[in-house]
Amino acid sequence: MLGIFGGTFDPVHFGHLRTALEVKESIGFTELRFIPCHIPPHRNQPQANSEQRLMMLKLALLDAETGFSIDRRELDREGPSYMVDTLASLREEVADRPICLILGYDAFASLPKWHCWRELFNLANLAIMRRPDSPDIAFDNELSEILLKRRVEKPTDLHDNPFGKIVFLNVSQLAISASLIRNIIAHGKSARYLLPDSVLDMIQTSGLYRTVKAEQSN
Ligand code: ATP
Repeated sequence: MLGIFGGTFDPVHFGHLRTALEVKESIGFTELRFIPCHIPPHRNQPQANSEQRLMMLKLALLDAETGFSIDRRELDREGPSYMVDTLASLREEVADRPICLILGYDAFASLPKWHCWRELFNLANLAIMRRPDSPDIAFDNELSEILLKRRVEKPTDLHDNPFGKIVFLNVSQLAISASLIRNIIAHGKSARYLLPDSVLDMIQTSGLYRTVKAEQSN
């Protein structure tokens, strides 16, 4: 089973890494790929450029878990980084091996705003990460119907399906975000212990995130 963890990773932090590990262990991925997006279609543009974000991911994964890797296909594609295009190109490569896209609970709720979102269920399974104490979100009607039809209870049920199933997973979800880290650095404070030291060293050497940008409230 191939797991996909997409994001802007501006910068990558322990919230991403810890979650990736928990999801990998509960579903039993043999491989988990971090896919940094080039041009995020649904949010503000990243502060660090694509190559800088890729370099931070590489540093973070230097001593990573077995099976963690980076896939740069979105960086090599022009235009907005639509997940449906990414999954379609992965699907061509892996034939009918199960794929599982990892998504936050909020991201899942906003799925109907994504480009060609219905097509996602024909390409991958979905693992929705949820903090045990997070409040319920009222889903769009069509999304609720899809959930009724496609939801499975056990993470391991995904192994029998190359695509099309949805599972909810409880994860710790540390209260860390990239915007918090950018903000801390822009205010001249230390972001240590929120992300790997190697990534922080690169941020300090390159001078990234030193200016406060309005989009940081995202
Ligand atoms: P920003 O603060 O800039 O919005 P972010 O920290 O949310 O960034 P992204 O790269 O946008 O990071 O997120 C990629 C994926 O990682 C998303 O699915 C998001 O839900 C998840 N994620 C981010 N932070 C955490 C965290 N602390 N715990 C679990 N998942 C996280």
